[in-house]
Amino acid sequence: MEAKTTTTYSMWSLFRNCRKACEWRYIQELVPLERDHNLAFGTVIHKCLEIWHGGRDLGLVLDFIDRTYPNRAQEEDQKREWHLAAAMMKGYAACYASEEFDVVALEKTFEGSIVNPATGASSRSFVLAGKVDGVVRIGDEHFLLEHKTASQVDADYLERLWTDFQIVLYSRYVEQTLGIRIAGVLYNILVKARLQQGRGETEAEFEARRADLIAKSKTGKSSAKRRLPESDDEFQARLAAKYTEPGMFHREMLYLSRDRFETLQSELWELTQAFLDARRRGVFYQNTAFCFHYRRSCAYFPLCRADGSTNVIENFYRKVPPHEELRDETSFEEASAF
Ligand code: SF4
Repeated sequence: MEAKTTTTYSMWSLFRNCRKACEWRYIQELVPLERDHNLAFGTVIHKCLEIWHGGRDLGLVLDFIDRTYPNRAQEEDQKREWHLAAAMMKGYAACYASEEFDVVALEKTFEGSIVNPATGASSRSFVLAGKVDGVVRIGDEHFLLEHKTASQVDADYLERLWTDFQIVLYSRYVEQTLGIRIAGVLYNILVKARLQQGRGETEAEFEARRADLIAKSKTGKSSAKRRLPESDDEFQARLAAKYTEPGMFHREMLYLSRDRFETLQSELWELTQAFLDARRRGVFYQNTAFCFHYRRSCAYFPLCRADGSTNVIENFYRKVPPHEELRDETSFEEASAF
């Protein structure tokens, strides 16, 4: 008998949103050469939180951040993310110096059957696998712990958590794997500070500003001094102050609806049937309404625009086996499903 294909929620979500994107990623196994910075940063914070909740040793977390950005002295992108990650994790450790929960498991993987709701039979083609950030106990109830980094947390953001169907589905599989009842989800949200390190003025910029001030001055003079670049210590201090402000860390607890799980399970089954049909016929159609869904272009936009040109594949994509989130280099999903 043929082995069942491992699938993840990300795959089914992508198949539902755009079948063509699902084909590019999960059948052709293509990913863009250029990594998405938002996702890469989220992955780093994800790992930091795993280390922190594993032993509450901030030194280990900061050491991991240092090792993640070895070229920060030369590369601006690395330096910017190093500053943000270090300040965010120092702020997090201070904000949650004591915890309301006990950690039961971290980075827990699971694999389970996909069930036909009409017959109760398991799919002969697919299994669903996944990984949750953690399982925690509060009082006598268990919750999934779900980390998120966000640009801001407002009412809209919190409202959208309701549409996080992945976690609802995962909860039931975790229940089966661990043999405990999951009451809900504890969203652990860390906000990315938007501060930028002051780069100072060039000599020419300073002279232009000074000339401008002198032109406006009644005395024809100016005591303006050239603005110097902000040092790393000064910038860290500014970030540290930012991370003491309310709203930079947010926890939201949602209780799970058992009815919603039944609905999602049915939808998952429907998706498996549609996928089998698309694969059999070799037809994965495009959903162009999804191309700019996350206010940026889809990772496969250049490929679709070039009608799947092999030249574009060779120059802008590489092959990576799917389901990266199940491997050690956890992919952290902030917006995109790729
Ligand atoms: S570019 Fe548009 S049509 Fe092509 S895979 Fe992405 S979302 Fe689908």
